[in-house]
Amino acid sequence: MNKSTGNMYEFVDGRWNPVKGKCLYQCSYCYVGRWGQKQNPIHLDSGELRKNLGGNNFIFVCSGCDLFHPSVPWDFIAEVFRVAREKYPENTYLWHTKNPARAIEIPMCQYPKKSVLCVTMESNWYFPNISEAPRFFDRVDALKKYTGRKMITIEPIIDFNLRTFSRDILECEPEQVNIGADSGNNHLPEPTPEKIAALIEVLRPHTRVHLKKNLARIYKG
Ligand code: SF4
Repeated sequence: MNKSTGNMYEFVDGRWNPVKGKCLYQCSYCYVGRWGQKQNPIHLDSGELRKNLGGNNFIFVCSGCDLFHPSVPWDFIAEVFRVAREKYPENTYLWHTKNPARAIEIPMCQYPKKSVLCVTMESNWYFPNISEAPRFFDRVDALKKYTGRKMITIEPIIDFNLRTFSRDILECEPEQVNIGADSGNNHLPEPTPEKIAALIEVLRPHTRVHLKKNLARIYKG
């Protein structure tokens, strides 16, 4: 496990990246692309798979690509789940994706006992030039069907329709919503501070809202 650093969630203990390589969602704001992984095909990293993950850690799995992208072979996913479930069952695993439709194909008995499915939802508007990941409504539909613990991450936050965005997020019943901003100066169409404040106000009575440090650039709270 690699210790949590940089813009990582403050509430996780570290990252574990047993699958690496080019993520075909090609989000324009992706920091991983700029870190040189873009040209490597998706592969299992045997060194990472052998890492000691300890116990009672909260671990972000695959922070550098999307484990549930259709290009990741099922046997890679099965091996990652097997190691987490059988070798280090005391940890909590954060399965982070923009493709929950594939995550929910996995039977719940295959997930480690302590798992949280976290889905990125940057906006409920469609910006085809920003990402090739599944659309917001597909992510919502799939996440609603997941029966375990759930989080939603709005990062990098992009302008949205307040009424429908907040409604659809809450209908997914996340135990926590994380909000962060673009860290990379990617000139995204960001919401105003007032709109972010209104979103937080709607969400807070119903779920825990975690504001990431990088949100401070556009929202002082
Ligand atoms: S889904 Fe994540 S890892 Fe993949 S391109 Fe987008 S930001 Fe990068």
